[in-house]
Amino acid sequence: MYINDLNLQNLVVAEPGESYQAQNLGNRYIEVLVDCPGATGLFTYRLPPQLEVTPGDILTVPFGAQQLGAIAIRLLATPNLAADKIREVEDVVSVGFFPSHYWELLNRVATYYYTPLIQVIRVALPPGLLGRSQRRIKLTQLSQEQTTTKLSTVNFLSPPAQQILQLLQTQPSGDYSFAYLQQKVKFTYRGVRELLRLGLVESYLEAPRLTRPKLQKAVTLIDVSDRDLTQRQREIIEVLRRRGGELWHSELLQICSASSSILKTLAQKGYIVIEEREILRAEQSPTLPQDQPKTLNAAQANALATINSINGFAQVLLHGITGSGKTEVYLQAIAPLLHQGKSALVLVPEIGLTPQLTDRFRARFGNKVAVYHSALSEGERYDTWRQMLTGEPQVVIGTRSAIFAPLPNLGLIILDEEHDSSFKQDSPIPTYHARTVAQWRAELENCPLVLGSATPSLESWVSVRRQGAGGRRQEVEENSSTQHSASTHYLSLPERINSRPLPPVEVVDMRLELQQGNRSIFSRSLQAALGQLQEKKQQGILFIHRRGHSTFVSCRNCGYVMECPHCDVSLAYHHTEEGAPQLLQCHYCNYVRSHPKFCPDCSSPYLKFFGSGTQRITQELAKEFPQLRCIRFDSDTTRNKGAHRTLLTQFANGEADLLVGTQMLTKGLDLPQVTLVGVVAADGLLHLSDYRASERAFQTLTQVAGRAGRGDDAGRVIVQTYTPEHQVIEAVRTHDYESFCQAELEQRQDLDYPPYGRLILLRLSSLDPLQVQNIAQIIATHLGSNAGFEILGPAPAGVMRVANRYRWQILLKFSPDELPQLPNWEEIRDLCGDRVSLTIDVDPVNIL
Ligand code: ADP
Ligand code: ZN
Ligand code: ZN
Repeated sequence: MYINDLNLQNLVVAEPGESYQAQNLGNRYIEVLVDCPGATGLFTYRLPPQLEVTPGDILTVPFGAQQLGAIAIRLLATPNLAADKIREVEDVVSVGFFPSHYWELLNRVATYYYTPLIQVIRVALPPGLLGRSQRRIKLTQLSQEQTTTKLSTVNFLSPPAQQILQLLQTQPSGDYSFAYLQQKVKFTYRGVRELLRLGLVESYLEAPRLTRPKLQKAVTLIDVSDRDLTQRQREIIEVLRRRGGELWHSELLQICSASSSILKTLAQKGYIVIEEREILRAEQSPTLPQDQPKTLNAAQANALATINSINGFAQVLLHGITGSGKTEVYLQAIAPLLHQGKSALVLVPEIGLTPQLTDRFRARFGNKVAVYHSALSEGERYDTWRQMLTGEPQVVIGTRSAIFAPLPNLGLIILDEEHDSSFKQDSPIPTYHARTVAQWRAELENCPLVLGSATPSLESWVSVRRQGAGGRRQEVEENSSTQHSASTHYLSLPERINSRPLPPVEVVDMRLELQQGNRSIFSRSLQAALGQLQEKKQQGILFIHRRGHSTFVSCRNCGYVMECPHCDVSLAYHHTEEGAPQLLQCHYCNYVRSHPKFCPDCSSPYLKFFGSGTQRITQELAKEFPQLRCIRFDSDTTRNKGAHRTLLTQFANGEADLLVGTQMLTKGLDLPQVTLVGVVAADGLLHLSDYRASERAFQTLTQVAGRAGRGDDAGRVIVQTYTPEHQVIEAVRTHDYESFCQAELEQRQDLDYPPYGRLILLRLSSLDPLQVQNIAQIIATHLGSNAGFEILGPAPAGVMRVANRYRWQILLKFSPDELPQLPNWEEIRDLCGDRVSLTIDVDPVNIL
């Protein structure tokens, strides 16, 4: 058949609709990103003359022996390679996959955070979407309308095109993967291209198997006339009709105790249609009673009116004390948008608080609410993601990475608890801050951004109230420092709902407790309060600050501390119950070992744990208050899917008196029965060697305190500390955000720390301790020749060795109002070589 194959390749054949000239003139090139592990750079391809490509389109390109998905990045007039080495783009698979402003957002993130674009794209897309997608070819409507005979006698088609067509026609769905066609037909590229041009086939990208939509058989009622039904068949039709004319196949069988053959008969008679229907694996939640908008108080109403009046981009700081009703403002700001066909994006710091918040949104907006975060399964993420692309007006609630949710018609972005540091990604790159990305996105989509908090970050405070440090109050202020001179609004909710008071905060000096003979970890005041909980039928929260070091094991004889053999941190003590093995675990690398009986250094038997993790506290509670029912709420007990919800529901139902936990229970919990909040030891928070320690401590303690007294019964807060005179403790006691802010801002300004000066942190690590230190020094020297910023370090990281890697860092401090910029970052990357890895952390939040 193919006598002329080789010759055909060399012949210049005028294709229909093309001229000879076009082939000579049309030398255009494009740089693409190829989604293939290891291939991180840009690759150049030639564009065939008839192909129109816009940056952001998804292409398929030949790559080695493979056919891969690629993303068009930029058009080139002249190639940067010898022209004969350049291969041709095979096809455009999807046009406008990234709307232009979304594309621009990804580019901004890549530039600002010094990250290859493909890595930003990987954060934005559900896992594996591009990498494992498959290119498929299928017959178009047009070719299916022609009869088989007509097409196969069309002799203007080249032999490969004819063969492909015939193959596709043997398939009921008219559809094969490109790879399969390639095995069966020679010159597949040409053949497919020819058919594409004639509109006889189309090419599409099929999502990988794991994330393929889940299909399930559904039954739809299409005819209710009773022509020739048996009694049994009539029953089934009746069930279907009463259920709204549509049911899952399996469900219908179950309800009617019928066999599938009876349904098949009904389908043949034309009463019903049985077809595969997609089920969205969205997170299931219990059905909630419908909730009505509440009548707003004056401050809420004012805030809502301002947000509603905004046209286009603006940044709003909603500063509402704990329990002031911020969430109600969000809900009422979103409602009218949905009616206008727009969507809203709500970002929250952690999954820990999403169940409660999500429930409130679902109770208001029903199934228009989607949840998107990294703890979803791949399938769930993929489905939620595709659901967003439909453009249906909806509310997406998610954590950090949801800032990239591809909602086409965005009307509002909200960051709840905007001060929270989990909006920042420390590693891997891009080390983005969701708040920064949200600002860009709101600007690009021309919609308002609402930042809500009881304890706004100093960044937001300063950017919305430029003169705020002087204490001047201004409701609306033009912020002239940004290019677009976007307006900013400061909105305050200074009171709790129903004018409930903030709970009084009692500070207990633990030094005095010890002096007066109390050796318990609970002060007498806290003991009394805990003792009264059950009597008063009230509930309490005990907050424990925890970082790796809080539960270390050491020898009381010689001082030896049990450390991880791979990381420079002490091992944390774990003991779940009587009789269970006592384990020591590394929170950095997960190394686990048993608790030795004797000190490895001096062999004494006095090897005991120190500190006060949640476990230790619950054990202590069981000893001192055996009648109290406690729930432990920390990263260990909430590891399983749905555990957050289960534990919080148990607590809300009154199945326990006390919730004992770490940071994750400080955020956004609204439990009206909680009257007591105890902070076991505030000191762990205060003494971190980080310029943000005070800000973070103030925020955390204020948020924890804010969980008390949100219902009808008055609340109280007890804070135990060894340094009661600390300015943070004082500000928490008096609920005085503004004074705290002012004092803190003055210090930051003096030292040029954010939000005035800006920072970039270079994190270096290597298996080789000397090499990483040397390279850190070389980089610092290299950077030294560039004025424009101050260099701090190089210094070993707070925890110098993690998982056998030695870590050094260099902190660059830029003068106020200057964008943090590394002039020669590619050189720096090159200086690192193969054995030292570098993370560029722009606007770092965790410097330790
Ligand atoms: P915040 O998010 O500011 O801490 P919430 O939005 O959780 O506060 O509100 C605290 C409580 O007050 C919630 O139970 C909420 O339903 C209720 N609430 C909010 N606004 C109103 C209102 N206008 N009238 C009555 N109750 C309200
Ligand atoms: Zn010892
Ligand atoms: Zn370790």
